Amino acid sequence: MGARILIVEDEPEIVEILVSYLKRDGFLARSTTSGEEALAKLKSESFDLVLLDIMLPDLSGLEVCRQIRKVSSIPIIILTARDNETDRVVGLEIGADDYITKPFSPREVVARVKAVLRRTQAASSEKIIQVGDLSIDPLRYEVRVRGRQIELTSTEFKILEVLARNQGQVFTRLQLINQVQGYSFEGYERTVDAHIKNIRQKIESDPKQPRYIKTVYGVGYKLIADS
Ligand code: CA
Repeated sequence: MGARILIVEDEPEIVEILVSYLKRDGFLARSTTSGEEALAKLKSESFDLVLLDIMLPDLSGLEVCRQIRKVSSIPIIILTARDNETDRVVGLEIGADDYITKPFSPREVVARVKAVLRRTQAASSEKIIQVGDLSIDPLRYEVRVRGRQIELTSTEFKILEVLARNQGQVFTRLQLINQVQGYSFEGYERTVDAHIKNIRQKIESDPKQPRYIKTVYGVGYKLIADS
């Protein structure tokens, strides 16, 4: 399945051409024209990368970038005017992964998207994820709670990894199934509940009062470090 790209840009011609080039390369592209909408979308849906224009009708792209970085490490590529070095520098300083100057060739954008995804995925798949007392080692497939190693099934591990990589982000059951592709879910969203229950039994000191994986009623699950 292709990576999901969120395009935040208010110029319809640019959006159209980016969407068509990204789709041609197998990406799933969604777009929004405002910063507020982009932040809302990122809360409710799951994406792999954000293409973020600086000049937006409401919030500046830089402000959007700042807001995203408070809660997420999703790769961000900013789109800036050719002559605005300040925006580029500030953008990188506040956590954008790369920038592209306008006007750009859509092929270049696709190439940069691929490069940033390769770079960030390689880096993040090696790093140990630490959330409170919980540490997840994606290379060794090891989970520890306060140093004690926990045995999880591969599906449980993948679910926990997805939630922990996107701390605070709410995932619907269907999103979790999609994220944990390659593992058998037998197609039932409720199967996710059973996996979550098992993970809680293993990692929580009181599974009835979970400190890590929280149920968001009517939506799904999220993982937070409840200190
Ligand atoms: Ca714009």
